[in-house]
Amino acid sequence: MGSSSAATDTIAAISTPPGRGGIGIVRLSGPLAAAIAAQLVSPRQPLEHARARLADVLDGSIRAEEPETPRTHAGRIDEALVTFFGAPNSYTAEDMVEIAAHGSPVVLEFLLRRGLELGARLAEPGEFTERAFLAGRIDLTQAEAVRDLIEAQTLTQARQAASQMGGALSGRVAPVKQSLLELIALLEAGIDFAEDDVEVAQQAAIAARIDELKPPLVALEASFSRGRLVHDGLSLALVGRPNVGKSSLFNRLVERDRAIVTAAPGTTRDTIRERISLGGIPLELVDTAGLREGSRESLEEAEQMGMRRSREALADADLVLVVLDATQPLSDEERNLLAAVDGRPALAVLNKCDLVKTPPKDETAAGIPTLATSALTGEGIAALRERILSLATGGAAAEPGLLTNLRQHQAITAALDALADAAKANAGGIPHEMILLDLYRALWALDSVTGQTTPDDVLNLIFSRFCIGK
Ligand code: GDP
Repeated sequence: MGSSSAATDTIAAISTPPGRGGIGIVRLSGPLAAAIAAQLVSPRQPLEHARARLADVLDGSIRAEEPETPRTHAGRIDEALVTFFGAPNSYTAEDMVEIAAHGSPVVLEFLLRRGLELGARLAEPGEFTERAFLAGRIDLTQAEAVRDLIEAQTLTQARQAASQMGGALSGRVAPVKQSLLELIALLEAGIDFAEDDVEVAQQAAIAARIDELKPPLVALEASFSRGRLVHDGLSLALVGRPNVGKSSLFNRLVERDRAIVTAAPGTTRDTIRERISLGGIPLELVDTAGLREGSRESLEEAEQMGMRRSREALADADLVLVVLDATQPLSDEERNLLAAVDGRPALAVLNKCDLVKTPPKDETAAGIPTLATSALTGEGIAALRERILSLATGGAAAEPGLLTNLRQHQAITAALDALADAAKANAGGIPHEMILLDLYRALWALDSVTGQTTPDDVLNLIFSRFCIGK
């Protein structure tokens, strides 16, 4: 049986979520995977690479050391589908066995416990994926994408993760790295051959070469805004005076009755949060209690608490909807509110437009774009969704191979910084040995995107955020 690189022990885990389900899967990976599986299950046909086999799950009570355990069904406690993957053509690039039994925690835990008794070790979180990475079967961006895919909350997030899992991001970095390596090779060779008369031409050529490396990296860096948006989503706070229709709009946007709506002002005492998917972008809607100036009226404690939360929500939110009542003139506190969100991604919503004879045209309220809606009739709600979406994306287009996390973004930024230093050194006529130091720094940064130069503690941190069994 083939075994793989560094890891020599065999790991085991229940890979399906805790609890009862139709099926549950126990995974084994490592040199002993098949040998252990042979004692856990008895397949009706011999195991063969990537073929599912029906098998009986053997009852451990057959073993001599537990003779007092009553034997009921001839040593069988479940029926399972067992699949063997031979190294290196498996997820981890090691020998792997997946036992898909019925989703009974009792059976799965029994299988796992027996597997551990037979020489496997309980897998750490993300260890299967980490082994795939360590074996060089996938790079770090692909490993990160596995976790992103599992955690995806919208189909768009899943698509983005799947594209990164397929190597879309690494594919964008690879040609830049190749050109950088060529430049480094040129300079490494050039040091020995440098002659005074070719120096100037060489300096211009090096400058051009460095410049060529930048645009794809700048484009990658810019993709982070969209990548982060799809990956993390945004929060959107609905703020405004009581009774203007915030909760009603919130409900329209979440399309089910989540917030309590009544005709009495200020009933939404606390913030209510709900996640929606708008054009595939996860959006957390925050419905706040009405903002009121505390001095004017005595407010109940709960209301005050709600207001404090509102202000916090306003401060924290990525996007703000200032909800106004189309039947009422702007109040001072609403003017203050509009002033407070000036310069931020915000939209003023003139709600209850069904109550005014000539609905106000979309205009600008104190520098903030305005949209007329009716939470009652649904008028303007589709337009509102669109406006929120364009506010959220800021026009950033979807493209394959986006940067999706800060780690990747920092690596690209570091590469660009190093290239800028190299360009400066070159322009200043500094010896090539010194320019090379900057170029190697850029190379190191690019390699860290795919994990080739990522320090162990960072790797541990990344994989520790996976679930066990993945
Ligand atoms: P909030 O305090 O800002 O959250 O306001 P609510 O959503 O609780 O709404 C207050 C009252 O206004 C309720 O009676 C709603 O039915 C009503 N309302 C909300 N939006 C509209 C609208 O667009 N048109 C009309 N006619 N009534 C609305």
